[in-house]
Amino acid sequence: RAPFDINLVRRDFPILQERVNGKQLVWLDNAATTHKPQSVIDRLAYFYAHENSNIHRAAHELAARATDAYEGAREKVRGFLNARSANECVFVRGATEAINLVAQSWGRANIGRDDEIIVSHLEHHANIVPWQMLCAEKGARLRVIPVDDDGQLQLEEYAKLLGPKTRLVAFTQISNALGTVTPARQIIEMAHSAGAKVLLDGAQSVSHLRADVQALDCDWFVFSGHKVFAPTGIGVLYGKEALLNEMPPWQGGGNMIRDVTFESTQYHDAPGRFEAGTGNIADAVGLGAAIDYVNRIGIENIGAYEHQLLLYATHRLKEIPGLRLIGTAPDKAAVLSFVLEGYKTEEVGAALNREGIAVRSGHHCAQPILRRFGLESTVRPSLAFYNNCADVDALIAALARLKGGRSSF
Ligand code: PMP
Repeated sequence: RAPFDINLVRRDFPILQERVNGKQLVWLDNAATTHKPQSVIDRLAYFYAHENSNIHRAAHELAARATDAYEGAREKVRGFLNARSANECVFVRGATEAINLVAQSWGRANIGRDDEIIVSHLEHHANIVPWQMLCAEKGARLRVIPVDDDGQLQLEEYAKLLGPKTRLVAFTQISNALGTVTPARQIIEMAHSAGAKVLLDGAQSVSHLRADVQALDCDWFVFSGHKVFAPTGIGVLYGKEALLNEMPPWQGGGNMIRDVTFESTQYHDAPGRFEAGTGNIADAVGLGAAIDYVNRIGIENIGAYEHQLLLYATHRLKEIPGLRLIGTAPDKAAVLSFVLEGYKTEEVGAALNREGIAVRSGHHCAQPILRRFGLESTVRPSLAFYNNCADVDALIAALARLKGGRSSF
């Protein structure tokens, strides 16, 4: 049973009424992106109908409305992350841009030859490639926390990697490919004891767990709006305020300066120094509306409900003969990754699509972790709080039909 009215929640997401291939859509691709409640869609329309203006620069009524809406959204992000100050919340395009910003700003200024950056074997390419590029430029070294056969990080091995050369540990709170929830607090504490900074990738976690950056004590936290029921093209880089103000600007342009002459330029403090040019104003406002929506349901209620649904889905998937679940850590959230003996993952994805069921099949932009399990690709149903047991049953029935058997329920 959901601690909220699941039928009402489902009605808040108009796309769930969509028909695909003659069937009602079953959306199980939430790890790739989430759908938007009507309140977010309405907020975007309201912005363009009543508030649209560039922010800060013009002294007129609509500029004031747009600025209030944009800065109001930043304050909502602050509350959502429990940051100390809204100045610690920089609007960016998404998690990928946030990580690249830290790599190119802090990384270029602070990483030198033979320094070490630690990532985990679970990482999305977005939390591997920017560090690899930085290491190549600086002659630094990338090291990797290994996982066990369940897909959980091995902390004893991690402890051995930490040392005086470690400058940064960058890792994910939840794996997008396996669903593993990593012991973030402990990993962060160990990194800080070794004198390293920590970037936590919250792209998969913000829609399932409370992200309390003060309790976690991470130096940076990144997420994408579109994975938490907000529009695409907007995301957040959180950073501790003093640290952000020590970091050199990444992109130059309007908005990020205090004063410009041809001889020299003074930059704003954070967040302004990292928001050059006209930002994604309406979508930031949409992110604020999505946070309001999540707060109304309650992230703890969401997590508790999804946990029950994950247990149910895991139990039902295990009924399918020849199905191998990848990622069996005790601490998991929302993601089920599997391969089906005798079928290519694309075949499974296409068969499900014919029945209106959306899952991702592929490498999920996390090739290293799939290869750790000897695979190039898995089928990945992933849950959100608007999914229900009927969605899981539809998936199981479709898989059973694909195998030519009959579903047992
Ligand atoms: N990290 C993780 C764990 C992700 O799942 C994703 C998105 N799949 C990203 C980073 C990158 O997010 P985006 O593409 O929205 O920038």
